[in-house]
Amino acid sequence: MDWDEILKELQNETEDSCPECVQCGYCCKHTPCYYGKWDSDKSKCIYLTENNLCGIYDKIVELEKDKPKSERMFGSGCCLNFMNPDRLKKLQNKK
Ligand code: SF4
Ligand code: SF4
Repeated sequence: MDWDEILKELQNETEDSCPECVQCGYCCKHTPCYYGKWDSDKSKCIYLTENNLCGIYDKIVELEKDKPKSERMFGSGCCLNFMNPDRLKKLQNKK
């Protein structure tokens, strides 16, 4: 699949809702979430693992278990999909 096709797919999938999180780590390398802490030397959240996962995922899920789904950190798709080169790269590698 070429870039034009991938971009067209991205436009379609964002019309109604956020697209899926593909665990590219881009968001956590730009600003920490409410639970995160910034590592200015490494320019990423201190909890982001080498393979771009949240190191305190289980803790956050537990803390938010009584919140409505729409207000939880995880499970509602990608929060930073527009012009995100890491997500695009991951999507292209998946094809
Ligand atoms: S706490 Fe987890 S989800 Fe939040 S910024 Fe850090 S790594 Fe990302
Ligand atoms: S930028 Fe989007 S796809 Fe990448 S980790 Fe964050 S939410 Fe997931």
